[in-house]
Amino acid sequence: MMKHKFKSLAILLLCFMVACKDGKQTEKTGALLFPQGDKNTNSNFKGDVWVKSLVEPDSLNENAVGNVTFAAGARSNWHTHPAGQILLATEGVGYYQEKGKAKIILRKGDSIKCPPNLAHWHGASQDTAFVQIAITGRQHGPTKWLEPVSDEDYRGL
Ligand code: MN
Repeated sequence: MMKHKFKSLAILLLCFMVACKDGKQTEKTGALLFPQGDKNTNSNFKGDVWVKSLVEPDSLNENAVGNVTFAAGARSNWHTHPAGQILLATEGVGYYQEKGKAKIILRKGDSIKCPPNLAHWHGASQDTAFVQIAITGRQHGPTKWLEPVSDEDYRGL
């Protein structure tokens, strides 16, 4: 009877050790929530940006969902979304600014609802990379791209 109890405890301890090891491994490799995707090559962004489309819009749901990774200092140009956009910050530190308003600092766990047809930009902070999920309504057409963000606006408060 005692022997059986010891065996059960030993198995329990082994399971605990394996669980701890797995936990540490995940932490060490910093497993990505979503794939980073391909490096952007168009001129709508400045700096190193990677984009991965997660959900394509269709007739049942007209939202496009994408994972966007900005290297430190990288940002979008000014732009508008005809049906607005929701940004979910999943990693790092980023910036978001609407035309005529102060820049907002975004950290992991923050969310932003960007109104339709309002000029804005988003990107990483100067020193830290930033990852966001962008949910963009496509029912009123594609994103309209405007001028690059000046260094003054990027660094400004
Ligand atoms: Mn946007």
